[in-house]
Amino acid sequence: MAEQVKRVYRFGKDSQGDNVTEGAASMKGVLGGKGANLAEMANIGLPVPPGFTITCQTCMEYANADNAWPEGALDEIRAYRIDLEERMGKKIGDAADPLLVSVRSGAPMSMPGMMDTVLNLGLNDRSIQGLIAQTDNPRFAWDSYRRFIQMFSNVVIGLDGDLFENAIIAMKQRRGAVSDTDLTAEDLSELVSEFKAIFAQNTSAADYPSLVADGEVRFPQDPTVQLQLAIEAVFGSWNNPRATLYRQKNKIADDLGTAVNVQCMVFGNKGNTSATGVAFTRNPADGTKEFYGDYLVNAQGEDVVAGIRNTSPISELKHVEGLQKAGQELEDVFVLLENHFRDMMDIEFTIEQGKLWMLQTRAGKRTAASALKVAIDMQREGLITKEEAVCRVEPSQLDQLLHPQFDKNARYDVLARGLNASPGAAVGKVVFSAADAVEAAERGEKTVLVRWETTPDDLAGMIAAEGILTSHGGKTSHAAVIARGMGAPCVCGAEALRIDAEKKQAVVAGTDVVLREGDVISLDGTTGIVVLGAVDLVQPELTGDLDTILEWADEFRTLGVRANADNPEDARLSREFGAEGIGLDRTEHMFLGERKQIIQSFILDEDEEIREKAIADLYAAQTGDFYGMFKAMDGLPVIVRLLDPPLHEFLESPRALDVEIARLEASGADARVIAEKRGLLAKIDSFVEANPMLGLRGCRLGIVYPILPVMQVRAIATAAARLKKEGFDPRPEIMIPLVSTVNELAKLREVAQKTIAEVSEAEGVELDLEIGTMIELPRAAVTADEIATQADFFSFGTNDLTQTTFGFSRDDVEGEFIPQYLTEKLLPYNPFATIDPGVAKLVKMGVDLGRQGNPDLKVGVCGEHGGDPDSIHTFHKIGLDYVSCSPYRVPVARLAAAQAALK
Ligand code: PEP
Ligand code: MG
Repeated sequence: MAEQVKRVYRFGKDSQGDNVTEGAASMKGVLGGKGANLAEMANIGLPVPPGFTITCQTCMEYANADNAWPEGALDEIRAYRIDLEERMGKKIGDAADPLLVSVRSGAPMSMPGMMDTVLNLGLNDRSIQGLIAQTDNPRFAWDSYRRFIQMFSNVVIGLDGDLFENAIIAMKQRRGAVSDTDLTAEDLSELVSEFKAIFAQNTSAADYPSLVADGEVRFPQDPTVQLQLAIEAVFGSWNNPRATLYRQKNKIADDLGTAVNVQCMVFGNKGNTSATGVAFTRNPADGTKEFYGDYLVNAQGEDVVAGIRNTSPISELKHVEGLQKAGQELEDVFVLLENHFRDMMDIEFTIEQGKLWMLQTRAGKRTAASALKVAIDMQREGLITKEEAVCRVEPSQLDQLLHPQFDKNARYDVLARGLNASPGAAVGKVVFSAADAVEAAERGEKTVLVRWETTPDDLAGMIAAEGILTSHGGKTSHAAVIARGMGAPCVCGAEALRIDAEKKQAVVAGTDVVLREGDVISLDGTTGIVVLGAVDLVQPELTGDLDTILEWADEFRTLGVRANADNPEDARLSREFGAEGIGLDRTEHMFLGERKQIIQSFILDEDEEIREKAIADLYAAQTGDFYGMFKAMDGLPVIVRLLDPPLHEFLESPRALDVEIARLEASGADARVIAEKRGLLAKIDSFVEANPMLGLRGCRLGIVYPILPVMQVRAIATAAARLKKEGFDPRPEIMIPLVSTVNELAKLREVAQKTIAEVSEAEGVELDLEIGTMIELPRAAVTADEIATQADFFSFGTNDLTQTTFGFSRDDVEGEFIPQYLTEKLLPYNPFATIDPGVAKLVKMGVDLGRQGNPDLKVGVCGEHGGDPDSIHTFHKIGLDYVSCSPYRVPVARLAAAQAALK
């Protein structure tokens, strides 16, 4: 007989007060992050409301079987429910003393706010009486029941939340009530009846046969039905669009599933000795060692996150009448949790009539600045090792520190102020809905998403916008938490904004400004400032903490890190960021501006003298370019790649010229001018290729036009010779692109060597320049042993190698069909951003064969993947010598390389 799969694990105490928890923190893959940490908190003696967790694997089995329960699962859940009832001495749905439970999602990776929750489950027309009797608080009981119906209808059945909100508003109007808290027990009981009617009218009998009684849909009274439907809804929420999008953006696998935690309810809304809150053990924005967060007295958890009422800072909690003891206990718990988990933790808690309950803990999401400071402080406090500190900072998060900030010299008037929820500055056009932000981004426009408060449904818009501005909610509101996680600038709780999303405008109280859709604003998420108009932005300076972590990273990494740069300024910047050389200088980037004209006359002119002059001019200009580059990188290698793109890239667009000719003809322009233009068009047309990226480019250019490599190598060698004579230590290396056979490389190597020897002799300086090649074509990778006999180094051009391995045009497919491939999971991620395993195989083959052909061969990578943390792990495993990436990614690559070595 097959071994019985365990699908349910309990946590918390039994009726004797003994811990009967079955799980632990190490079981996140089974119990989800929330379930595993609830178990861990119970195991270390913290007050956790008892409950049980249904495993993530059950969710996936249910989903994979088209929403059918695996055999035996419901029986196991029933047994654990009975066990929970016994532990609590109460029954769900009991008419005298009912047990109420929450049903919450909890995936292995934190996905805040993406999936569903149902609270107060177990209330029905009978158990409400028990709750009234037990609490002696009819208002609280009816409020709990109406919240349950509202949540159940919305989350489980998918009814529009407005149906219920409108009923509440209508009731408040009838009663002349200002806020929800002005409604009496009788009002709420009437609302419960209305809610049940709304439920019955709007729920399909065909979809929910278990809800049909006497031929009509009814709000479920049977707790077993309530519980099963709620669990099914939480399972289903794993595949809702926002959760799916979040996983795609955060590279979380789709087959992990979510666990479901069924847990006894505790109430923060039982009067003024009750409260609820969310907190961090340190400041998640800047890492300061302080208790950070918000709480609300007499409220339920979702009230804090929803930003409906203004919260108070957690540091005040222990001074509030009736909450002192729980407040102090909470601070002790913070310390205990940090010492146990050895990390900055994020906590959800509830105080029910003076008693503290822990509802959740997890490693807190934090900004890059906070991650650095917390890692360094914890290492210095002896809580974690240096290796752990280096692994605690997410490399891609460092981008945040490189976010623009307001220029200190910029002058501006502050339009409004809010909370500095997520650092960095943004400038963009105001949009009032997530959909508008997405549309604008598709048009290439930068926006700032302005919302009352964001909800999980706004995720796509938050990703599309440059920055996020809300008028409500605290630093732990949805907008703040998500923006920090994404590294997007965010100002929240800017209360002066009176937003009318329907009219697409916002009045700014205290001013005569009305913001309309399309108006440009600037916001600074580091200071919480909002400005009308565009403020100049600058790149920030790197903090000391970043330097410290990167120095520590350098102690552990074995991969070298170089930069892709093609001007002295970028070279210097990359050197400041710690680059150990230039891995790719794309020389075509030096042919912009007036240089473009020179190369055009080389390409198009038939007069030999003019062509020679063009080459001489290019030589002079290039010698100056290389002189600057090698000087900026004195003592470090600089790989100069010979000209790579198809020549027509330097020419005017034939289409534009065609249009110009048509216009000239229509306006009756001089026939000679028109004839000249026609001649030019014919020449340009002769360079047009059907498949230019597979055409006359790379080393093929040098073979067809040998004067080009000779000119470039002469310029490189001359610049090096001059610097040597001035006492510098230039280290240029010459790289030949897009080689597919060893013969191409051998031929161009010979040309280069001859040219170097000539310059060496002419300048009277010894020059020993290395010559290598790019591996960008599958044929080069699979014959790398032959190619290596002619190369001192290889640099894998993984942009072209991806293009040529897949047969994907790198200029087109990302805008054309890769998004669909990702949605349909034909590809797990974009192979132009993160190295594809198939392309990586070719890289490995190229490295291994290359080293066979030349044991002294140096190997690196210089495609975009060289700055991508996930790809860096792959390159480390393959055993490359270095990665090369854009200057701003150099810090990211240093950290990722260290983590690759440590993990
Ligand atoms: C590459 O192909 O990976 C590369 C670095 O060269 P380029 O992007 O200039 O084609
Ligand atoms: Mg290339």
